[in-house]
Amino acid sequence: MKYIDEYRDPIKVKHLLDEIATTITQPRVLMEICGGQTHSFLHHGLDDMLPQELDLVHGPGCPVCVTPLEQIDRALAIANQPNVIFTSYGDMLRVPGTRENLFAIRARGGNVKVVYSPLEAVDLAANNPDKQVVFFAIGFETTAPPNAMAILQAKQRGLKNFSVLVSHVRVPPAMKALLSSTNNRVQGFLAAGHVCAVMGYHEYIAIAREYRVPIVVTGFEPVDLLRGILAAIRQLESGKAEVENAYERAVTFHGNQLAQETIQSVFMPVDRKWRGIGLIPMSGWGLRPEFEDFDAEARFAVGEIVTQESPLCIAGEILLGLKVPPQCSAYGKQCSPQTPLGAPMVSSEGACSAYYQYHGK
Ligand code: SF4
Repeated sequence: MKYIDEYRDPIKVKHLLDEIATTITQPRVLMEICGGQTHSFLHHGLDDMLPQELDLVHGPGCPVCVTPLEQIDRALAIANQPNVIFTSYGDMLRVPGTRENLFAIRARGGNVKVVYSPLEAVDLAANNPDKQVVFFAIGFETTAPPNAMAILQAKQRGLKNFSVLVSHVRVPPAMKALLSSTNNRVQGFLAAGHVCAVMGYHEYIAIAREYRVPIVVTGFEPVDLLRGILAAIRQLESGKAEVENAYERAVTFHGNQLAQETIQSVFMPVDRKWRGIGLIPMSGWGLRPEFEDFDAEARFAVGEIVTQESPLCIAGEILLGLKVPPQCSAYGKQCSPQTPLGAPMVSSEGACSAYYQYHGK
C-alpha cells in the first residue's frame, strides 16, 4: 500500500538501524513527544533494535493522559446532571476520575455518548433542543481545528444548548517546561508529525536555539521514526541544535494556515494545568471571550472539585521522561488495562498501555 509499505520496508529499516548504530558514539537521551509514536516504536519492536547507547524516553503527547483529574471529575459532575447529553471521544470514557468514570455513569443510565467528530455533538444539540449537549474538547493542536469548527458551526446555527468543556493543550510550551526543569535528561526531540502538519515547525526554531537541542519533525512509520532518530543523533554528534523536517510528505514550515486561523478565531493561548506535570504558562487553548456562551465550565455550576490521585501512580515522571512504565511499582500488578490506576494505562496513546500491550506484564 502506497505510503505504508515503503515506510515499513525491512531493508530500509535495517539500513537506518545500522546507520544509527555507527553514528552514535556515547549515551544519548531522545524523547518522542507523541504517544502515537511511542506505540509505533513498541508495536514494531524498534525499541529492542536500537543501540544501547540510545535512551528513548516517552513524552507528554497523550491528550487523555495530560487532562487534569479536576477536569475529568468536572466532566463526570456535568455528565451526572439531569437533562445533559455528555459527548466525548471514546478514550475518555474509561479514564478513572477520583470516584468513577464516564462508563459507570452510562451504566447507571446517564446520557453519555461516544462521538467520532465534534460536529456529531453539534447535530445532537440541534436534534435535542430540550437537552444540554456538552462536548469534552481535549487534545493537542491536532484536535483543536475540528473542535473550533464545531463551536463556529453551533454559533452559526444559533444553538443555545451546546457547550464545550475545554482542556486543549499546546506542544511548544510543554517542551520549554520540560527543558527548563532541573532534572531534565532530554537532549533532543522527535517532534510529532501530525501536530506539525497543522502548526508547521517554525515555532520550534527559537526552542532549539535557546535550549541547544536538536528537534526533528518525525512521522509514525518505522522508516519515519528511524530517520528522525538518525537526524537527531547526527546533530548531537556534530554539536548542532537545529530544527529538521524528516516528515516532508506531510509537513511544511508554516503548516496548515487555514487550520491555524480556525483555531485562532475561537481559541486563545491560556495557562493550563497538565496532569502529573502541573501548571505550564500559556500551554493551553481557551475560548475567546466572544465564545464564552459555549463554555460548559461556566454554564454548569458543579461546586468545588476535590481530587485524589492514586498514590501508586507515577504518571508525571513517565510523562516527563524520567521513568518508563515498568519502573512503576503498580505496573502489571495493581494497574493494568482492565484496572487502570492512571490515564497512561487507559489511553490508546498512553505509554503504560503501550508497554503492557507490546511487552506484557
Ligand atoms: S503503570 Fe499505572 S499506576 Fe503506574 S504510572 Fe502507569 S498508569 Fe500510573
